[in-house]
Amino acid sequence: MKLRKLTAAIASAVLLITLTAYNCPFRTHQQNISYAADKSVDFGSFDMSVNGGEPIRGVDISSILAIEKAGVEFYNEYGRKQDIFKTLSEYGVNYIRVRVWNEPYDKNGNSYGGGNCDLYTAAEIGKRAAKYDMKLLVDIQYSDFWADPEKQTRPKYWQQHDHETLKGEIYKYTSWVLETISESGGKIGMVQVGNETNCFFCGEKDMYKICDLFSSGNKAVRDFDRSILIAHHFANPSTGYYAWYAQVMNEYGLDYDVFATSYYPYWHGTTENLTAVLQEIANKYDKYVMVAETAYPYTNQDGDTFGNAVSADSDNAVFRYDISVDGQAQCLADVFQAVANVKNKGIGVFYWEPAWLGVNNISWEQQNELWNKYGSGWATDYAAEYDKSVNSAGGSAYDNQALFDFSGKPLKSLEVFRNIYPQKKVPPKPDEPKVKGDINADGEFTVADVVLFQKWLLVNPDTALVDWKAADLCKDDKLDVFDLCIMKHMLLEKK
Ligand code: CA
Repeated sequence: MKLRKLTAAIASAVLLITLTAYNCPFRTHQQNISYAADKSVDFGSFDMSVNGGEPIRGVDISSILAIEKAGVEFYNEYGRKQDIFKTLSEYGVNYIRVRVWNEPYDKNGNSYGGGNCDLYTAAEIGKRAAKYDMKLLVDIQYSDFWADPEKQTRPKYWQQHDHETLKGEIYKYTSWVLETISESGGKIGMVQVGNETNCFFCGEKDMYKICDLFSSGNKAVRDFDRSILIAHHFANPSTGYYAWYAQVMNEYGLDYDVFATSYYPYWHGTTENLTAVLQEIANKYDKYVMVAETAYPYTNQDGDTFGNAVSADSDNAVFRYDISVDGQAQCLADVFQAVANVKNKGIGVFYWEPAWLGVNNISWEQQNELWNKYGSGWATDYAAEYDKSVNSAGGSAYDNQALFDFSGKPLKSLEVFRNIYPQKKVPPKPDEPKVKGDINADGEFTVADVVLFQKWLLVNPDTALVDWKAADLCKDDKLDVFDLCIMKHMLLEKK
């Protein structure tokens, strides 16, 4: 007997014993499968001038090139290794957001990390997105590293500039960014001038002066291509300051299109408040509104040895959904619904860094080497010179909020993007496995498929590898032990 047949025979025997222990056949808790990911959200009559008449179903995957270089692999829904851009487009994602930092390197050329998000990284991401017909939101942060409500550090080479000189640099830099990305093949649909600029931007803290700086970036966008939407982005709609930001921008006469917000549901209040705050600005100033960043945990586990931003025991975090794949899907669908509820002006949602993983199952020492070598974590050791909050290199604090599991396989929650309407272009369907029972899509039905299905059914229902059609052998739109029994018989007959 060949080794392969012997292995299959032993595995079958083990499987039979396991099934006997489960007193096959019987119905399990899986019999009424109903997932939040299957819930649809309808934006109603959608403005044809925005994204071709479709709500923005976006993700920010700014770190992706560094993550891939570090060795993380991504799979499609059938368990095949596949370009993540293709997989995202198959799940209905139609927009990619990418952050841009001026010079995220020290004087010796060492990267600060966080995905090495310089202009050339953004251009490459734009090119890869365009291959699958996904537009680009260019999130220009006007900093050499992370910009958020606490940090808006000017780029190194701009630090001595007076206000007018800084304005000139912002115009020139913005123009250069747009030209470079477009020439590389990226399809820019929107530009963010600044990131989470809560009365703080490029070192400036006076909101009227900030508007004057914004105007320079905005003019560069208008001069480049008037069809590109201009967004301004703030963090946390529950602070009570949004109406004031919008009022000052209006008083200044700032020419922009989209008022965008970060909305992390465990920190930023309810979805009802999100809708109300955005609706007021949309009505009063006739602006589009959207969520530029959101995320929610599906697990309390950590996949890369670097502690996570939130988990069930976090202080100052309110979890209104289960920390599970289904809770994550419910949350994401509700965020889309909250934006859809802003009638005629809500244009979509971006999920933040849904693929920011580390290489699975390696030690902290190995992870640390990858973070420093490839910039695949939030910071390298070299970032400390520019960002005083950096003590040492680190990984992903968001891997438990990803839409891929720690081994790079899509979670069921990614399917939320498929159910956002209206849809002008039907997302491309991935090739289905041709062989009955071949749920890992390697082209043949083997004991590996049976073991995988058993794991999904009896041990870990969050396992993302199952191809429903291939596994639903009873053809009753349910996956249960009956299907597993048929699989087992197929395996025995094969032998
Ligand atoms: Ca982590």
